[in-house]
Amino acid sequence: MKAEETSEHARAIRAGDRRALARAITLVESTRDDHRAASEALLAALRTDAEGTVRLGISGAPGVGKSTFIEAFGLHAVDRGRRLAVLAVDPSSVRSGGAILGDKTRMVRLSRHDRAFVRPSPSAGTLGGVARRTREAVLLCEAAGYDTVIVETVGAGQSEIAVRDLVDVVLLLVAPGAGDELQGIKRGIVETADLVVVNKTDGALTAAAGQTRAQFQSALHLLRPPTPGWTPRVLGCSALERRGMDELWEAVEAFVEAVGDGMARRRTAQAVAWMWAEVRESLDSRLRAAPAVSARLADIERRVAGGCIAPGTAARDLVEAFLADRRTYADTRGQPKGDEER
Ligand code: GDP
Repeated sequence: MKAEETSEHARAIRAGDRRALARAITLVESTRDDHRAASEALLAALRTDAEGTVRLGISGAPGVGKSTFIEAFGLHAVDRGRRLAVLAVDPSSVRSGGAILGDKTRMVRLSRHDRAFVRPSPSAGTLGGVARRTREAVLLCEAAGYDTVIVETVGAGQSEIAVRDLVDVVLLLVAPGAGDELQGIKRGIVETADLVVVNKTDGALTAAAGQTRAQFQSALHLLRPPTPGWTPRVLGCSALERRGMDELWEAVEAFVEAVGDGMARRRTAQAVAWMWAEVRESLDSRLRAAPAVSARLADIERRVAGGCIAPGTAARDLVEAFLADRRTYADTRGQPKGDEER
């Protein structure tokens, strides 16, 4: 993309053009090298001060009522003047090409609201890649003037934990009865939550919801809070009946108030951590693609699997082969290959 196109695209995003924002997110989701370069240029052109925005992660197992909840919670926020963007990380689409969040029409009223922007889940990539592109999508939404960005995740745990590293506050949505699952993997997710919200606190489920709240409340006492300066809270709501939304937004505001400068410090640390994640991902893919490595990879993996060579030795051999390959290339061409690609 030419420089003028980039600055025109950036201008349209800043002006609140939703199609321009949607196109930009498609660009950051693309794995094509030229798209990567274009999205980096766009992000550089859009660099803005995101101070004052809130990045909120919402996770919960399929069926707990996330769509219903985000619609109710989101409409409550936009009706009170927030500008809200909703992005989704759906690891099922990473594995199978299908999506839990799927084709069903979700959050219909919210997506039609002129102060809301709802983006369906990215359709392919590694979990790390999807999360990385979601991070870039968050920045794009903020540049477009959305002061509140929800990142929704559905998964067995890994994506929730990855999302902790790209938001300020994590809200875990659970259904009545979920307290019984407070073991194993769920516990890992609970450890990342600043707010636990028991949805479906209505009708015949009211009593069970109360019990679930109590179970989470006592479980949280035993865990280390994920955010310094904030003691995680357990709240209840009914997304279906749109009850409890005021208290939830008050809790989000109380979080922002209590954590104070800690939010900016966390964002700085997240940015550095993401840089290293990018470095690892980029080195890994270049190493695998290097001819001297790819020629030997299958054989070395087989020997490691068969116990003929120790994993540590094999790893060192591969890295040495990669570096030797690069040196040979640099000697003949004067430049390492990677510099030309960028
Ligand atoms: P998701 O899979 O987590 O996105 O869940 P959905 O929003 O699609 O909701 C799953 C089911 O739970 C639907 O049948 C909803 O009507 C129902 N549901 C969602 N929120 C509530 C609630 O607050 N109370 C009750 N009773 N049912 C709800």
